[in-house]
Amino acid sequence: MNTQSTVPALQARSVSRSFKRRDGSAIEALKNVDVTIRQGEFVCIVGPSGCGKSTLLQLCAGLDAPSEGVFEAHGKPIAGPGPERGVVFQKDSVFPWMTVQHNVEYGLRCRGVPPEERRTAASQYLAQVGLADVAHAWPRELSGGMLKRVAIATVFANGSDILLLDEPFGALDYVTRHRIHDVLLDLWDEKDRAKRTVLFVTHDVDEALTLADRILVMRGGKLVDDVSIEGKQPRDEGDLASSGVLAIKRRLLGHLGIGHEHGQPETV
Ligand code: ADP
Ligand code: MG
Repeated sequence: MNTQSTVPALQARSVSRSFKRRDGSAIEALKNVDVTIRQGEFVCIVGPSGCGKSTLLQLCAGLDAPSEGVFEAHGKPIAGPGPERGVVFQKDSVFPWMTVQHNVEYGLRCRGVPPEERRTAASQYLAQVGLADVAHAWPRELSGGMLKRVAIATVFANGSDILLLDEPFGALDYVTRHRIHDVLLDLWDEKDRAKRTVLFVTHDVDEALTLADRILVMRGGKLVDDVSIEGKQPRDEGDLASSGVLAIKRRLLGHLGIGHEHGQPETV
């Protein structure tokens, strides 16, 4: 955990977001959420479907705005998307009409980075995610796992220091998912880990236990738990079987109403 910076990477203060249903009634997707995410943290959000995880991430990304409260990135209210916040969704965020290399360069091109410089950055990150050989391929020629690597290379090439990932690897098979965890953590680790913040939504408790140094639990639009986990990531099967991690897993599953010894979810 990093204490170098006193300005949090992300901070929500009394954030609520309600939507109108078609019948005119309101649904509160987020209810009075307060959360502080420090620079350099790898935070996973878990919770059942419909609990507000994606809504929270959309607010961080600046693709949506709170109905009430304030959401800040690096101490400033989030007013829209910005290059310092890179987003990867479950659905691929690559442009099918651009080669892999041009996809990775796209954000830099939009910001007027000269061709040579953006080519170098794209090539560097494509090499780091293991895709140097397919830089000039089209997205349709790539597997699902490779497309995720393109998306990751893109946010890193863009220089984003807050990475927002919404169930990014949910559609990948087990082995591919584990490989891409390594790719993501290697890049996160590499340079300025203390500055690079990750907010990663997953419905998979084991994925959160593998990756996170802190796990937030959401239920019904509220944050209901906040757990820190020790030890280097990614945690392997042995780490996940340790008594400390298993205790956290039981706690998380209790919130989700699964596998509690007495058949009752923990009250929160
Ligand atoms: P999660 O990602 O945890 O599955 P979401 O954040 O997508 O949950 O949704 C939380 C709640 O808000 C759900 O009940 C969902 O139906 C509702 N919701 C989300 N976005 C909208 C929207 N644009 N319009 C209406 N309701 C929405
Ligand atoms: Mg969602």
